[in-house]
Amino acid sequence: MPEVEGQIRDEKLDAEREARRKIALAQVRQYPDAVLRMRANEVEAFDEPLGALVERMGRLMQEARGVGLAAPQIGILQRVLVYQLADDSALVPLVNPRIVARGEELETLDEGCLSLGAATVVVPVERSVAVTLEASSPTAEPVTIEAEGLEARVIQHELDHLDGVLAIDRTTPEARKRALAELRPQPVLG
Ligand SMILES: [Zn+2]
Repeated sequence: MPEVEGQIRDEKLDAEREARRKIALAQVRQYPDAVLRMRANEVEAFDEPLGALVERMGRLMQEARGVGLAAPQIGILQRVLVYQLADDSALVPLVNPRIVARGEELETLDEGCLSLGAATVVVPVERSVAVTLEASSPTAEPVTIEAEGLEARVIQHELDHLDGVLAIDRTTPEARKRALAELRPQPVLG
C-alpha cells in the first residue's frame, strides 16, 4: 500500500512511468499561475465535451500519480473534479460538487498538491474528518457521497481548487513561508 499524502501518491516508479508522470505534470498548472486563483463556473451542459474532459482529467491524474485533480489545475474553469484513492479503487468524477454537511471532528495532516511543486512541497492542513457531498455525475445523475478520512480530505482539497483556494492558504504562517520559499522560481544559470 503506497503512502498517500494529500493529493500526491508517493511510491517508487519505474523509468517509463516516471517519464509519463513528468509529461502529465507538464500539463498541470503550477503555482503561481493565475488560473489557480479563479473561481470555476457551474457546469450547465452535460454533453460530450464534459465526458471527454472527465476522461482526460482521470488519465492525467493517474499518470501524474495524483489522488485527485480539479479542472482549474489544467486551466479549465469548470466545477469538475476527479479522484481515485488507490490503484484498485474506482475513479470518481464529480460535477458541481458541494459539501452539504460536515462532522465536527477536525484533523491536521500534511498535504501535497500537483500544482505546488508536485509533491516537493507539503504543508499541514486542518480539515473536517467527515463530509457529506452532493454533486452530479458527468451524465447528470445526482450523486451523494458520505466520505471520511482520506476521501473526505481529497474532496475538500479539490473543492478548494474550484474556489481558487490552495493548501498554502490553509496552513500555518510558518509552513506557508517555508513552502513559498521552496516554490520561488530558482535563477537559471547557463
Ligand atoms: Zn491540489
